[in-house]
Amino acid sequence: MKQAFAHWLRQLESRIVDRQDSTSALVLVEATLPILLLMFLLQWLGIRDESVRALYRPSLLNFSLWAQGAFIAWLMLMGVIAWHRRRDTEAMPVLVQLTAVPAMLGVVLLSLAHGLKDTPMSMVLLAQFVFARALFSLYQLRWAFSLSLLAVLVVEVCMFQGWLPYAPMLSAPVYMGGDLHPWWALWVRVVFSSATLPLSGILFFLAATLASHRRALETLVRTDMLTGLANRREFMTRLERESHRQARSSRPLSVVLFDVDHFKRVNDTWGHPVGDEVLTKVGEILRSSTREQVDTAARYGGEEFVLLLPETDLSGAQHVAEKISARLREHAFVANGQTFTVTQSVGIAQVVEGDTGWALKVADRNLYQAKRDGRDRIVASVAFAEGLTHA
Ligand code: GH3
Ligand code: MG
Ligand code: MG
Repeated sequence: MKQAFAHWLRQLESRIVDRQDSTSALVLVEATLPILLLMFLLQWLGIRDESVRALYRPSLLNFSLWAQGAFIAWLMLMGVIAWHRRRDTEAMPVLVQLTAVPAMLGVVLLSLAHGLKDTPMSMVLLAQFVFARALFSLYQLRWAFSLSLLAVLVVEVCMFQGWLPYAPMLSAPVYMGGDLHPWWALWVRVVFSSATLPLSGILFFLAATLASHRRALETLVRTDMLTGLANRREFMTRLERESHRQARSSRPLSVVLFDVDHFKRVNDTWGHPVGDEVLTKVGEILRSSTREQVDTAARYGGEEFVLLLPETDLSGAQHVAEKISARLREHAFVANGQTFTVTQSVGIAQVVEGDTGWALKVADRNLYQAKRDGRDRIVASVAFAEGLTHA
């Protein structure tokens, strides 16, 4: 039961987030039918009682029941069509209009007939609004919204001119200043709760859906797709933050740049997908060789990676880099039934006085020094402002 409900919520979320005409139409029908059926049943049961019957305008009573019945039948038909085409992802503008326009307009007319101002019908209308908007774009709802607005305006004008009474379906408005007729006391409570509860539910649900998708997007913006490490943007953000911290605390901070040796050859020899596997492996080694909450391992670009190591001096950073280089060197990659290994060159710099920009330049110089010295090695120095001091 709980699982089925959770499944339904997930379905609803996916229908709201990845909108698809057929399923949106289906959900709108699913959301509109219960309240329509409830109102229909309430009225149908109520009018069996003589005093309740007297509350409705006799000439319109049967017509309103028939109209509501036809409205419900129409929505059911749309629901059946939408259900049959629920796996169809193509645009279905006609189905959308044939569902959204009657669903909105029907609730508007029902609200006007009961009186918008002194009944909870305005709440029903609001719920319908929020739900429809969550499921469809404003463009798709253009006819539903403009016809609804037109209906309200026309009825307002007619009432103002005295051509139409307020709440035309009722012989007297729900509220007349005195105590509520017991029927209206019941009707108001039932209609009000059946509109406000789903409305609050959908608002909370929308807020939660939006929040979880915003978090997912935020993660996506900071993550490198291939390796799952932080991307360069996220690295630069953290570098900036750590630079201020280092300037204040004077605690050691190191940056470590890695560049895979002769990576072009890996691509040329084994193919690009194998190259991607190598990069993924490097990412894995970097992640598992560093402290999760403290260090930042990022893909700096192409086959270059970078580590930001707070509370780590030059020798500590060298130790980490050696461990990582060894793990990569010893890993046997397999492609086309053959094995091969890969090495990387490393440039390290320890940050001084929070100048991470300079430290990054020094690490880059050290990396190219390592390349010139024959690759598969580490060059490290403290990034003193005046220049390089090799360790
Ligand atoms: P060096 O030892 O001097 O670093 O030589 P290198 O071949 O590693 O360096 P170079 O900069 O010449 O080549 C880097 C190559 O990395 C070129 C580029 O096609 C490849 N590359 C960059 N990003 C990706 C990627 O995401 N996947 C794969 N498979 N290859 C990539
Ligand atoms: Mg490179
Ligand atoms: Mg390289």
